[in-house]
Amino acid sequence: MMGLRPIIHKSCYLPKVKILHTISTAMVDAIKSEFPFFTANPNLVYLDSAATALKPQRVIDALALYNAHESVNVHRGVYRLSQRATDTVESVRQKTAAFLSTEKTATAVFTRGTTEGINLLAHVLTHPNSRLADFFPAFAHIRPPAILMSQSEHHANIVPWQIAARERGYQLLYIPVDSDGKFAVPENFLETIAAAYSLRIIALGLESNVTGIIHDLMPYREWAAKHGAVFIVDAAQAVVHVPERVRALKPDFSVFSAHKLFGATGVGAVVGAKNVLDACTVYQGGGGMINTVHEATSTYLEAPTKFEAGTQAIGEIYALGKALDFALEHAQTLRTHEGDLRAYADAKLSKTGIRIFGLSAYERSPIYSFEIQGVHAHDTGTLLDEQDICVRAGHHCCQLLMRALGVSATARASFSLYNTRDDVDRLTQGIEYVKKIFRK
Ligand code: PLP
Repeated sequence: MMGLRPIIHKSCYLPKVKILHTISTAMVDAIKSEFPFFTANPNLVYLDSAATALKPQRVIDALALYNAHESVNVHRGVYRLSQRATDTVESVRQKTAAFLSTEKTATAVFTRGTTEGINLLAHVLTHPNSRLADFFPAFAHIRPPAILMSQSEHHANIVPWQIAARERGYQLLYIPVDSDGKFAVPENFLETIAAAYSLRIIALGLESNVTGIIHDLMPYREWAAKHGAVFIVDAAQAVVHVPERVRALKPDFSVFSAHKLFGATGVGAVVGAKNVLDACTVYQGGGGMINTVHEATSTYLEAPTKFEAGTQAIGEIYALGKALDFALEHAQTLRTHEGDLRAYADAKLSKTGIRIFGLSAYERSPIYSFEIQGVHAHDTGTLLDEQDICVRAGHHCCQLLMRALGVSATARASFSLYNTRDDVDRLTQGIEYVKKIFRK
């Protein structure tokens, strides 16, 4: 049965978001005023949104509303308040699925975040009890099974596959990257793989959390569709910067965390087709996912519920609903403002003489990993903190990428909707200060 194979139109890869030409300072100030973080920390320049985004008041209110007034469990209560909470959770589920997929069959499995989502997929997709060959013919091939990732993946999109591969006899394969973090694909790469392996799973991050590079995943999507492999997008970063790209790729599964999208920590989702999820074995066992339980065996509910054992992060799901509303409301502004910040930061930061990774890429989000020559990234981070500038320093959970870039760590500044050109100026001055201290 090949009914699920997506039809790919090349043109649908182009962004569908209408670009506004300018975002006024007043507009950014109005958006900033929705974030109480800035009232509590008026002098801070927050440049760590790739680690976690700040939360607007409506998200904080939704979490508080649940805990203060509607703090009941869902799916099991017969009383009206429980039913109301259940309705809220189910409506956020629909909103979540629609945010990352245009397919009518799409549903969302709530998880603790991207990491748990990929662990779930790694477990069920490689499990012999999952009946996947009907949907993905590569699962019927007798050549040794393989999973393809890239060297630029976050550890969340590597380690779960390593664990599954070791247990289930899969070969791990990687798209190499160059010293700027771009895919460096050898000639006939996929053909060579296909001659030796049954490439069953392609799992790739659309946007790098280190360089902000937005990789062109369409060739891999098309290859997966043609050869009957599962195509998974780690959308942890892309969900906030380029969700329309995720939708255009029509992945079999996409995975994200709410906290990168202005939502709360502790919740995220796997978005995919319900009938494929139904064909998969279960992940964790417990209450809420069963149909009947006997001494030796149990039967399970349908997807998505069969993957949601135990009580979910209900308040955080309420908050996710509001985070999605916020992201939808500001989609055009976000795209335009981030484009403006990137152009400004590219110009300003380039003048400081630091090494910025990924600058040569065709398309990027405003995430800057950089190295001040002769200065350790942790020293850079600490000296910037002294000037009230919050950046991240380290390997960013991307050790394979660090090796390809030829460094052990970078400092990373990541911008979002609430950042301004002034923040870029403060970062530039901060970098000059670090250089001065180290006499660089
Ligand atoms: N994938 C990417 C590209 C990320 O940037 C991150 C987090 O930074 C993750 C996966 C893991 O996300 P989480 O820690 O929310 O599970």
